[in-house]
Amino acid sequence: MSVTSKNQNMKIALCYKTEKIDDELVSNIKEKVLSYGFELNDSCPDVVLFIGGDGTFLRAVHQYYNELHKVKFIGLCKGHLGFFYSYDENQIDALLSDLKRGEVKSESHQLIKATVDNEEIYALNEIRIESPFHTLISDVYINDELLETFRGNGLVVSTSLGSTAYNKSLGGAVIYPSISSMELSEIAPINNTVYHSLHSSLIIDKDSEIVLKTKTDNILLGYDHLNKNVKFASSISLRLSNKVVVLLRNKDYSYTKLLKSKFVGDK
Ligand code: NAP
Ligand code: MN
Repeated sequence: MSVTSKNQNMKIALCYKTEKIDDELVSNIKEKVLSYGFELNDSCPDVVLFIGGDGTFLRAVHQYYNELHKVKFIGLCKGHLGFFYSYDENQIDALLSDLKRGEVKSESHQLIKATVDNEEIYALNEIRIESPFHTLISDVYINDELLETFRGNGLVVSTSLGSTAYNKSLGGAVIYPSISSMELSEIAPINNTVYHSLHSSLIIDKDSEIVLKTKTDNILLGYDHLNKNVKFASSISLRLSNKVVVLLRNKDYSYTKLLKSKFVGDK
């Protein structure tokens, strides 16, 4: 695919955690970027090159959140799980030459949107409501129908791309990111003869809405690596949004290979 019509003028921003990536690696990468005829530009890039782990990609997406319609992302993995990457630390030349020749695969991922107290919050992996101090109580509606009154530590609504993150730790299914969906998973649900919830992860289609009506104080709403407090008795609507993140991958990339290398192992 062609990344831009004028690849030689492509503007590249570098995104990394300064405390994790040493200056020498950064200046080496900067030199390489320039030697391939690209421009370095953090304020108005065509491509954001993120270096580090998956957390760095999440931070890059939130940093360029207002430019998502015109920015593409590509990652160089450095010492982390690296689920969003397809180039290793020693493959900077391969990354830049693939980018230059447009020989990369492009994936689009819808962000999930939470609307709460007239504010819109977006996430790539998931949105969580969690109650650190008391049992979280929340009614759960799917498309205006009451499914359950949940009691437990929290609820996580993940995108397909985020299904391998927190959702997977909760026993949720891994979903191929080519399937647009949301997955609702429970954190430590209370299930006994008095209280019941579904007690399994629930995958719902891309056009559906989940509404959580909370009945507990001191709730945290987590979104990717970020969080905010939610007022008592809030109504939180969750939907897939029309904001899309474009992630570039190596042309040999396949999701099945990625799952095998990151979770199953190569033996
Ligand atoms: P973090 O502690 O670095 O992230 C936890 C782990 O999740 C890291 O190994 C990270 O990979 C990996 N990860 C992130 N997104 C992933 C994805 N889509 N698929 C597979 N693995 C993924 O925390 P952070 O950097 O602030 O990232 C925030 C994310 O952490 C949240 O969105 C949430 O999904 C996840 N999280 C997980 C748990 C849990 O599993 N119990 C609890 C809290 C948060 P890297 O090492 O490459 O960064
Ligand atoms: Mn991380």
